Amino acid sequence: MLQSGIWQTNSSVISAGGAVLVVDPAYFPRELDAIAAAARAAGQVAAVAFTHGHWDHVMGHAALPDASVWLSSVLDRAIADDDPRAAQHLADARDFDGRWYVPRPHGHRWPTARRAVADGEALALGPLTVRALHLPGHSPDGLALRIGGALWCGDYLSPCEIPFVDDAAAYRATLARLRGELADAVEVIPGHGPRLTAAEARTICDEDLAYLDRLLAARDATAAAAIPLPRAADVPGMREHHAANCAKVGPPRP
Ligand SMILES: [Zn+2]
Repeated sequence: MLQSGIWQTNSSVISAGGAVLVVDPAYFPRELDAIAAAARAAGQVAAVAFTHGHWDHVMGHAALPDASVWLSSVLDRAIADDDPRAAQHLADARDFDGRWYVPRPHGHRWPTARRAVADGEALALGPLTVRALHLPGHSPDGLALRIGGALWCGDYLSPCEIPFVDDAAAYRATLARLRGELADAVEVIPGHGPRLTAAEARTICDEDLAYLDRLLAARDATAAAAIPLPRAADVPGMREHHAANCAKVGPPRP
């Protein structure tokens, strides 16, 4: 696992029987060069996988141009249909890179060699089986990967941040599903932050379920705003994320 200088974004290089899968290669050019070198040293790069379409997870495929990209069928359709949300993710990356003078020699674009993955689908990586799960809630296009006891879950169960909610009911259902996966998982690799034991991930899962339940049950906007954050309360911007969650989920302002 390699970790980016931005938001502890995780990139994983998984090698099995000479076949290599790279999950969420991110983010800066120097980091992508290192990830590509590590992947090529580990074997034949069979695929890149996106856990979801947010800009900080999807720029690295250009560093591994021969690999096809596994992504949820939801994201694949959004890209194919020129959905405004897919366009916004590229615009967000362009904006960030422009602001911080980050060179992006291959441009800001989606991969053309895409492999849409269905919920519950099993894919082969050398001798291993990769099981895919659709995980909406943080975004409509979430994709978790399960290989043996290891679970890659994208932007859920991060020890660094609170839930960023797109659809609260879907987010809740996804956490319940992840809770089931954790029953026989050994380790969890979240999109951001250190890898977790299953027990640590379970704790985060329960905290996030409680947070969402309180958000969904809040009587009014004041009560929603007063809900304590499950973690990272001192991280700049996290209270704004909570306010965004309230605006999306909580009761209407009087
Ligand atoms: Zn995200």
